[in-house]
Amino acid sequence: MELGYGEEFELYREGVREFLSKNWPPPGKSGEGIDDQAIRAFRRNAVEAGYLYRAIPRRYGGAGREPDLLEAQIIREEFRRARAPMEIGGISTQMLVPTLLECGEEWQKERFVRRTIEGEIIWCQGYSEPGSGSDLASVRTRGELVDGEWIVNGQKIWTTQAAEADYMFALVRTEPDAPKREGISYLLLDMKQPGIEVRPLRQITGGTEFNEVFLDDARTPADWIVGQRGQGWQVSRTTLKHERNMVGNAESAEKLFRQLVRLARSVDLEEGPAIDHPEIRVELARLWNEVLIQRCSGYYQLSRSAKGKSAGNLTLMNKLAFSDFAQRVSDVALRIIRGDGLLEPGRRRGGNEKWLNQWMGSLGLSIAGGTSNIQRNIIAERGLGLPRDVVGDR
Ligand SMILES: Cc1cc2nc3c(=O)[nH]c(=O)nc-3n(C[C@H](O)[C@H](O)[C@H](O)COP(=O)(O)OP(=O)(O)OC[C@H]3O[C@@H](n4cnc5c(N)ncnc54)[C@H](O)[C@@H]3O)c2cc1C
Repeated sequence: MELGYGEEFELYREGVREFLSKNWPPPGKSGEGIDDQAIRAFRRNAVEAGYLYRAIPRRYGGAGREPDLLEAQIIREEFRRARAPMEIGGISTQMLVPTLLECGEEWQKERFVRRTIEGEIIWCQGYSEPGSGSDLASVRTRGELVDGEWIVNGQKIWTTQAAEADYMFALVRTEPDAPKREGISYLLLDMKQPGIEVRPLRQITGGTEFNEVFLDDARTPADWIVGQRGQGWQVSRTTLKHERNMVGNAESAEKLFRQLVRLARSVDLEEGPAIDHPEIRVELARLWNEVLIQRCSGYYQLSRSAKGKSAGNLTLMNKLAFSDFAQRVSDVALRIIRGDGLLEPGRRRGGNEKWLNQWMGSLGLSIAGGTSNIQRNIIAERGLGLPRDVVGDR
């Protein structure tokens, strides 16, 4: 069996390497000299060369290339090897942009996609509300069309990066008399307006990435709607599909695992380094097995997609498997560092307490974008054909 990429793709790899050797690090720059401007210029060159934002049409700022999974994989490998910046990740580029490309009007793509992928504008996701998380179809924030404008009133919660965001994509009830899912629209809102107040929420980690967002007669033009009135639920499925794909893959799993191995080598547990402790060794072996399973699953999905076929249940299981894995890695790390994870007032950061943050953050992975329970429901219903759950609706 031939497991390599083949001659044609190895030639392609050479081209990527040549590009990187000329462009990264940017000529004449190193270390702190590589500022935001230099990174932005590098990304623009990489788009021009066809290596970043490949699937996005050129008229919206992308490379406009035909999708090719093997080329994309080679680019990822080579950029990682050279430690060169890849595409900007996150809510704006990985959730809103693909949604606009699939469901948006032409003017919306022209106005927003290029500026978003170039990092000029930031978006936040206004889905969850107090009482509407798993049961997302019950959102109560209302939107009324008055004289060519939507007037929006209500409250969103857990809104990541709302304080920095320029715009929000939000689920809003615009058809109060329609059945639950048919009464929602997907609106775009300017965050920098008097009708929107953002209040940060202090998290268990001490950070404030989350916010409450209060909409009090917030306004947005009638055509700042993605899809038709009452079609917001279907549009939100597109965004959620991309959100779930964002969480977890074999590469992130392996990176996390290797950090854990480094920790186990460097910290003593009982008689010697934690890596020699029999219980820790068993845990590491189990976790490494999971990395290998996720790697095989990744290859399988890649080869299915290369043939234009769906990977079925596996894509649904990705997020669930990764969030579970990340939590177990953090559990083992906490067993290794014990009290060293606690950060007393005044103690300098930069040591093992980062594992405590990692542990607390990993809890969030099994909640964001639909909880693990809801993922299991979806796998059971859509994957295994079991009867439908009557409560959750995410
Ligand atoms: C890191 C992070 C980032 C987030 N970012 C955003 C964001 O940017 N924008 C945004 O809109 N939201 C965001 N959220 C919110 C997230 O989408 C919700 O927290 C999530 O959907 C769960 O909703 P909830 O908090 O209301 O919990 P609930 O829905 O009240 O669930 C509580 C518990 O009940 C369980 N449960 C509920 N229904 C069922 C059922 N039918 N079957 C079995 N178990 C069930 C859940 O699994 C959970 O354990 C973020 C959350 C996190 C953790």
